Amino acid sequence: MFYLTEQFFSIQGEGKYAGVPSYFLRTGGCNLSCPGFGATYEVDGETRYGCDTYFAVDSSYAKSWTKVDDAAALIETLKKEFETIGYKPDMVITGGEPLMYHADSTFYEVISWLVEEDIQITFETNGTIEIDFDRYPAYQSCVFALSLKLANSGEPKSKRIVPQALRAIGKYTKESFLKFTIDAALVETTAIDEINEIREILPDLPVYCMPVGESRDTIWRNDKAVFEFCMKHNFRYSDRLHIRVFDTTQGV
Ligand code: SF4
Repeated sequence: MFYLTEQFFSIQGEGKYAGVPSYFLRTGGCNLSCPGFGATYEVDGETRYGCDTYFAVDSSYAKSWTKVDDAAALIETLKKEFETIGYKPDMVITGGEPLMYHADSTFYEVISWLVEEDIQITFETNGTIEIDFDRYPAYQSCVFALSLKLANSGEPKSKRIVPQALRAIGKYTKESFLKFTIDAALVETTAIDEINEIREILPDLPVYCMPVGESRDTIWRNDKAVFEFCMKHNFRYSDRLHIRVFDTTQGV
């Protein structure tokens, strides 16, 4: 059993496959909360801090999430969606942290079906969950967008960097890349040292950097610094197309 917060057809907005029409499954729940990312929201009159997908992270939103305990039913829904779309688009499995559910039998059945259908699957993951790729071989056919969190996430390093999880992903997956969300202040301070430390664990993966921002306004405040940072260090700049186009609208 796992939770979905939303599913929709859109365009991948970030990372290596930015611009590719993709069908999104967003799971509910995360093992981090990233209070440093600047999104604020209210729960029962209390102000909380989190990332741009706080509605898929904070369990106080769980009553609006959908419980999925029937893989066949979700697969039928996806088949109908693909018929409506007219082709089988790439799949993006995001969250929250989708790999919290990697060993769940319902979740794994859906992923295995997508792999059998030869559909490209990208996991948007924080890279902290260690996967047994021999036991769950379908994940070897997936792309892992490793959106590792840096100090600006507000999470302690011991929670956000798990070397054994990263080594397993680097060793077994067909394709992975590193993706960092950084802001103008971090560019001026620890960003390069933090990224280089992670690259000691995964030296061969391409690096994408994108500006912090849960809205157009916050992206505009950080994009130029990240752009110049990428030029300086030979990293790839990733924009956040869905926020540029739709601002804070969910489900796009
Ligand atoms: S790991 Fe990702 S989804 Fe989870 S709280 Fe941090 S930014 Fe949000």
